[in-house]
Amino acid sequence: MTQHHLHSKESRNLAKTLNGMNAEAAAEQWLAKARWGDDDKQGCPACGLFRKHYRRKARQQWRCANPNCSHEFSVTSGTPFHGHKLSFVNILRLFSAFENGAKGQSLLEASRRVGCTPKTVQAFFGKIREWMVGTMDLRPLDGTVHIDGGYFCGKPRKPNRKIRMPKDALKVRFGRKAPENASQPWIEAGMTYRNWCKRANKRVVISLCQSAGHRMGSGRSMAFICTAENESEVTRLAKHFIHPESRVMTDESNAYGVLGAYVAEHYTVSHAHEFSTPEGVSDNMCETFFSRFRRSEYGTLHGFRPKYLQDYACEFVWRENHRRHAQDKRFNMLLTGLMTSSVSQWWAGYWQGRHRKEELGLDYFLARLPSTK
Ligand SMILES: [Zn+2]
Repeated sequence: MTQHHLHSKESRNLAKTLNGMNAEAAAEQWLAKARWGDDDKQGCPACGLFRKHYRRKARQQWRCANPNCSHEFSVTSGTPFHGHKLSFVNILRLFSAFENGAKGQSLLEASRRVGCTPKTVQAFFGKIREWMVGTMDLRPLDGTVHIDGGYFCGKPRKPNRKIRMPKDALKVRFGRKAPENASQPWIEAGMTYRNWCKRANKRVVISLCQSAGHRMGSGRSMAFICTAENESEVTRLAKHFIHPESRVMTDESNAYGVLGAYVAEHYTVSHAHEFSTPEGVSDNMCETFFSRFRRSEYGTLHGFRPKYLQDYACEFVWRENHRRHAQDKRFNMLLTGLMTSSVSQWWAGYWQGRHRKEELGLDYFLARLPSTK
């Protein structure tokens, strides 16, 4: 039997390099190589001149060699880590911690490893997720594609007492109307208003996974927060993200009834009876995606805020898509991606209270597509 990819040497080939590298200078050089692709030359962020600039060793900076510019910059100037206070070694350690977390990475655990506050880690990981949101591959999926929806956030805690009462009684009880999204016709008698309101935070994430081949799991996937798991949202997804020639498999939810009009073949599996039919119809790639995402919600991150749910969904799409790559390849992919990006839109100024206002979802990605602009 072939070796499982998680047991292969390639899935743990980074520790040796990281352990041998305690010097700040080596870490800086690693970051510089990721950013400029060269050991010895740098690109000035102000004028763009690419050459060996004057080194200001004591300040870990360079001074631009162009006499008309003379801009002073460091390896992180103009990147998402512009103005950081973390040491270069700790930046690499946080990248490593993020990369290693199969079910996401706990903020507290990473902060203990590096010796910074959880808030620092939150902003750092937020920037990585911002890059993942920006680089999620939106080209239409083809071949065999599975689609399914999963519900996240907005789960009230179980109340103390298990007596049910009709929902209308809620208004009498709290003097207020039940929040929207509250679809259940009854509530538990022990429910508090604050607890009940959590239901309004419930979101549906619809994932689309393209098969990598027989028994290979998914090769490429996407996930979007939608307003509901219904026909109109599925239509929008099918139009933009699924190739018309694809074979699509879903469960028997009414939302997917429209798919026949947009794709070559549509098969369904009845989850009341089985996960996979004898003919091989299933949506197991989506179930796998949601299983990992759910374990992260419960076990590692202990809950998402709806505002950042799409960011987390993109993180798990990235983890899913690159799960079989060698560890150093994944690490360098993150490093190069972030070091060649510009200053963060959503996390710069986070410490001064400038937090992102909007919640991302399907509309955000549709606006990014060239055809719908
Ligand atoms: Zn310059």
